[in-house]
Amino acid sequence: MQSVVQVEPLTTARALRGPFDYVRPEGAEVGSLLEVPFGRQTLRAVVTALADSSPHELAVPRRVLPEAIPPELVALGLWMAREYCSTPARALSLMLPPSGVRAKAQLWAEPTAAGRDPGPEVRLTDNQRALLAALPRFAGTDLGALRRLEKRGLVTVAPRDRRRAPEHVAVGARRDPPVLNPEQEAAVHAIATAGPGERLLLHGVTGSGKTEVYLRAAEQTLRAGAGVIVLVPEIGLTPQMIARFVDRFGDTVAVLHSGLSQGERYDEWRRLRDGEARICVGPRSAVLAPLRGVGLVIVDEEHDGTYKHEGDPRYDARLVAQRRAELSGGVLVVGSATPRPESVHALRRIRLAHRADGARLPPVQIVDMRATAAGTVLHRRTHDALVDARKAIVLLNRRGWSNFLTCRSCGHTWECPQCDVTLVLHRAEGAMSCHHCGHREPVPRACPECASVSLARHGTGTERLEHELARIAPVVRLDAGVANPGEALQRFERADRAILVGTQVVAKGHDFADVDLGVVVDADGTLRFPDFRAEERTFSLVTQLAGRAGRGGRAGRVLVQTLDPDAPSIMHAVRHDSDGFLEGELQRRRALRYPPFATLIRIVCSSTEPGAAHAAAHAVRTAVDAAGGAGDGAMLLGPAPLFRLRGRERSQLVIKGPDRYAAIEAAGVAAAAVRAAKAHRTANLSVDVDPQ
Ligand code: ADP
Ligand code: ZN
Ligand code: ZN
Repeated sequence: MQSVVQVEPLTTARALRGPFDYVRPEGAEVGSLLEVPFGRQTLRAVVTALADSSPHELAVPRRVLPEAIPPELVALGLWMAREYCSTPARALSLMLPPSGVRAKAQLWAEPTAAGRDPGPEVRLTDNQRALLAALPRFAGTDLGALRRLEKRGLVTVAPRDRRRAPEHVAVGARRDPPVLNPEQEAAVHAIATAGPGERLLLHGVTGSGKTEVYLRAAEQTLRAGAGVIVLVPEIGLTPQMIARFVDRFGDTVAVLHSGLSQGERYDEWRRLRDGEARICVGPRSAVLAPLRGVGLVIVDEEHDGTYKHEGDPRYDARLVAQRRAELSGGVLVVGSATPRPESVHALRRIRLAHRADGARLPPVQIVDMRATAAGTVLHRRTHDALVDARKAIVLLNRRGWSNFLTCRSCGHTWECPQCDVTLVLHRAEGAMSCHHCGHREPVPRACPECASVSLARHGTGTERLEHELARIAPVVRLDAGVANPGEALQRFERADRAILVGTQVVAKGHDFADVDLGVVVDADGTLRFPDFRAEERTFSLVTQLAGRAGRGGRAGRVLVQTLDPDAPSIMHAVRHDSDGFLEGELQRRRALRYPPFATLIRIVCSSTEPGAAHAAAHAVRTAVDAAGGAGDGAMLLGPAPLFRLRGRERSQLVIKGPDRYAAIEAAGVAAAAVRAAKAHRTANLSVDVDPQ
């Protein structure tokens, strides 16, 4: 007789860790959400296990709340807590719907047998007849009228949950599914016949019809009675994927994303939990959707950086997706034209080598910028191509394209008072701003150090570029700062002639029919940063941009301006040679012991107190060493100072080890010790496993 529940109280306090035993209330199972007395407080708590007896005297939970989660999410949450050096409470909290929202009970009126077809002998006003004819329905303002009919036994009025349905992007006419080409057919077959827990990489060139493969695979999974999770990058920019799933599967699709109201979110969550919806489409958090019996988890554009969560736990939705599929015996499918070396290394690969519409990938040409005058933003050849183009997408790397101000007389630069970074000049807005904390100040007239009014702008890229582009064709801007990216994309789509210009986001999976030119303004911009993923990012950016051009029967081409035309990432992208790129990149990673051949863990200590961040990072290092290191062959890098952010000094330590679990264990133990130490109480620690 299992009369005891073990629970994790939902609190952000790290020191408070379950499980704690309570008397098992009627109906409580693994995954139930309870309200329990805890010291003098009342806390919400998730049941993580049942037990027969307990050595302790047990308290009785106050209530069983309606937001139970499926047991597989409990297992997933406990795993996430360990994998990302977090706590079960923090991980489990991510699985619950917004608290303080309830299902919206409304009155629902239905006709009785007598009310269904009232004969002429039943005396009714015209209004009452009209009301009866419109049943069944939710009772709104006409409640009084319905109540009068209820008294006469013609209708019943009772509470019922009403769904707050999110508005989906209209897709226009419903399209018949296309006939699959042989490559797609083979891919669907491979997914259908994959074993439980199997992991597949759908490596298909841009425009090869991966979405259609996802749709067919989802259809098969539903038919087999299992649920489907589809992860997509930032939703605001990729409404097409949602639209296509809703178009194909209707109400059995639930959408979970940050743009929903709390009520909508709650209702979508409930529909999934209760099995009314069997497909969930959303960004990274959708991997935690409360579906039971997930048979297929899809991660579209798996190379995308938004799959990494920046809160605690700092989970990577791609790895969580894999675990989720494993836990319920489902299949994981990740798709991309530019998959990560990690996925190529570990997953079974299915290829889609051709574009679905039979078009060829656009030719990509290098424009060597080394011979141009300093400060040139558009090469003559690029300029001429833009003049000839109807619709063009121009991509610039945000990093390296910002404008800064310096004093010509004394060399003074303007820095953020909160962060040790240079302020970025936004001349059009008359402001200087910090891209890290949002600090803003007006553009100065004179230098505060020497009073000189001779100020110089550096990195004049963006504004000059926009100015030059505007003389060629109407410009549509798209970057992280644009308030309504969906609207900008529509404007570009509808225009006869236009140039879409922006940062990385312009290269994401958009499917525009008539783009005939893509331009990368500074392809090596991402290469100048000291990051082991720099090559991968550059290759992906150029290839993805090329993927936007030449769709829908129009010939397209791509020009890549660069100061570094011999960089392997650029050479391979020009040849559409992702195999060659991946092979070289994996060799390089193996030699330098980067992922997937080692796990990186980044521990950042911060404090407002001078020197405290460094001292804490140093203490973490000492604690790891004292515990015998982080596994065979592991290296500790740092502590190294990071720039001050929001008024806090920061210092980081990186663990790089081939034994993932030894490294995670060491990081967790050392961080806990430093957090508990009085000497480091002003320091905050964040542990990031697999940092981006
Ligand atoms: P990807 O995601 O691989 O870049 P998409 O799924 O966006 O490619 O498909 C590219 C285009 O090809 C879309 O317009 C899609 O409707 C079309 N398409 C997909 N499969 C087929 C097919 N079997 N026959 C014809 N057109 C197809
Ligand atoms: Zn000066
Ligand atoms: Zn700042």
